[in-house]
Amino acid sequence: MIGELKRNTNDGDYDVFAICANNNTALLEEQARKFKPEYCAVYDENKAGDLKIKLRDTQTKVLAGMDGINFISEHNKTDFVINALTGQIGLEPTLNAIRAKKNIGLANKETLVAAGDIVVREAEINGVDILPVDSEHCAVFQCLAGEENNKIDKIILTASGGPFYGRNRKDLENVTVKDALNHPTWKMGKKITVDSATMMNKGLELIEACYLFDVSPDNIDIVIHRESIVHSLAQFEDKSVKAQMSLPDMKMCIQYAITGANNGKRQKSLCGELDLTKIKNLSFAEPDNETFTFPELARSAVKRGGTLPAVMNAANEVCVDLFLREKIRFTDIFDFVREAVEKHKNTENPGIENIIYASNDIKRHFLSRFA
Ligand code: MG
Repeated sequence: MIGELKRNTNDGDYDVFAICANNNTALLEEQARKFKPEYCAVYDENKAGDLKIKLRDTQTKVLAGMDGINFISEHNKTDFVINALTGQIGLEPTLNAIRAKKNIGLANKETLVAAGDIVVREAEINGVDILPVDSEHCAVFQCLAGEENNKIDKIILTASGGPFYGRNRKDLENVTVKDALNHPTWKMGKKITVDSATMMNKGLELIEACYLFDVSPDNIDIVIHRESIVHSLAQFEDKSVKAQMSLPDMKMCIQYAITGANNGKRQKSLCGELDLTKIKNLSFAEPDNETFTFPELARSAVKRGGTLPAVMNAANEVCVDLFLREKIRFTDIFDFVREAVEKHKNTENPGIENIIYASNDIKRHFLSRFA
C-alpha cells in the first residue's frame, strides 16, 4: 500500500474512506476486505482492472490512474489524507488535497523536496496542517509540542548510517543491489532503502525539515546513531535539547500524525515498549561526508533553491531505478546525481510546470543514456 485516506469519526475510531496503491493489488485486496473502503485507486491502470475483478463481490469501487488518486484525495467525504507515495509522483495528489482543504499526513518526502515553497505556501493559504509521518520529523514534531513560543536553535536529525556505514568510496565500488537492500534497523520499500544506503535519504530529510519546521539549512545537523532509538532532536535557545525515543516502528509515526491532526492526543498503540536496560548503549558519531556526499549536496541545493532540489531529487530517483535494474553501479548514483546538479541551469521562483519539466527532462536524459 502506498497511499491511504481516512475519515475521523466521533468515537476516536477511524473510517477508511479510500485506499490507493501503485500496483500491489494483492495487499490492496486484503486491506479492502478488512477496512471496507468506498473506493480503492490503483495507479497502474492494468492492475486496476485486475483489482476490479477481485473485488466484484464487495461494495468497494475501483478507480484507475492519477485521476483515481486525485478523485479520492479531494473527495468531500475525506478529511485526512495520508500520502505515502514514493517519489515526486506524490506531488500532484498532495497539492490537490491541500487545495481541497484536507489535513495531510505526509510520508512522501519528495513532495517537499521538489516543491517545498509551493506546498508550504498553498498549505498556509488553505489553512491546512502538514503532519510529518517520516520518523525523524515525527520526532522533531513531538519535541516541539508545547514550544510554540520558543525559537528553534537547531534541529538534529539522526541517521542509522545504513548498511554501508564505515566503508569508504573504494569499498562501495562493487556493492550489489542485494547488499544495498540489506538495511540494519528499518524494513522499508526498495527506493528508500537504497536512499538510506547512499545517505540521500538524509539529504532529502534535511530539505524536508527546512520546510516543515521553517528552519534554515545551516541550522540542521546530522548525526549518525546506529541503534535507531533516538529518532531526532530539537535544541532551543537556552541550549536545552529535547529528543524523542522509542523502538523503531513506523506504526507510532503514522498514529501520531493521525492523532496530531486531532489536537495531538496520544492513543494506545500496538508498538513494543522501549527497555533502555536491554539497549544498554546509545552511540552517536559524525557522518562521513567525503564518502556519503548527498547530505551536503542536498544542503547546498536547498540553499540555492529554484528548480535545483527537484532536479537533484529526480536525478536520484532515476539513478536509483537504474541501479535496481543493474544498469549502473552503486557509486554511479553519487557521480551522476552530482553531475545533474552541477550542469542544471537553475530557474528561480519556479512554478509547478517548471519543476515538473526540469524533473522529467533529467529523467529522460539518464534513461536514454542507460536504459
Ligand atoms: Mg526517515
